[in-house]
Amino acid sequence: MPEVTAEGLERWLRRFADVVHDHAAELTELDSAIGDADHGSNMDRGMRAVVGALDDGAAGAADAMLKKAGMTLVSTVGGASGPLYGTFFLRVGGGLAGGQAVDAATLGRALRAGLEGVVARGKAEPGDKTMVDALVPALDAYDAAVAGGAGIAEALSAAADAAEEGCAATIPLVARKGRASYLGPRSAGHQDPGATSTALLLRSAADSLP
Ligand code: ADP
Ligand code: MG
Ligand code: MG
Repeated sequence: MPEVTAEGLERWLRRFADVVHDHAAELTELDSAIGDADHGSNMDRGMRAVVGALDDGAAGAADAMLKKAGMTLVSTVGGASGPLYGTFFLRVGGGLAGGQAVDAATLGRALRAGLEGVVARGKAEPGDKTMVDALVPALDAYDAAVAGGAGIAEALSAAADAAEEGCAATIPLVARKGRASYLGPRSAGHQDPGATSTALLLRSAADSLP
């Protein structure tokens, strides 16, 4: 059974940085409709800093690497997404004990710890039109796939599909958290930028792990 290694997680972070960079204009465009037009530049700046930290070397064990990525995001991204993504990676790292083999179930628990961190920090519920609307269905799909006997690659592929569906499903929603909530009903009809970057995060995982 293939397992996730520190090298695999580093591939994931680098892949997400590349994908965020390629989609930065689109993410900012989405944020210009219901926010302050900076989600793409925020995420791009943060993930470039994460790649810089990885390039500095000595990433070490999986948990330490993800925690470093999380702290880098918190300290380089001023917007809501910095602390939220930062907390996500910090908590995923916390779910991966140093050096221990990471199988499908362990990765699922770590990802869920990341979601719980996002919810603890941002207090968003499903349906509030945030990144949580991509993460929750993604992790539910991941767990269901693993419960059905799927390995990591297959479970992440199901998670990425569900994240993309969850992201598309934010379009009709009225935002109840974050800047978009200031618009009230006028936030409906637009896809949430953070749910969009989260779908990219899950697709990047599916494309680079295990
Ligand atoms: P800011 O709104 O500070 O400019 P960004 O534009 O980088 O930050 O990120 C906006 C995204 O952050 C939103 O699209 C939403 O998905 C997410 N977000 C905002 N507030 C919350 C929250 N309380 N909980 C979860 N996600 C949130
Ligand atoms: Mg913004
Ligand atoms: Mg902002």
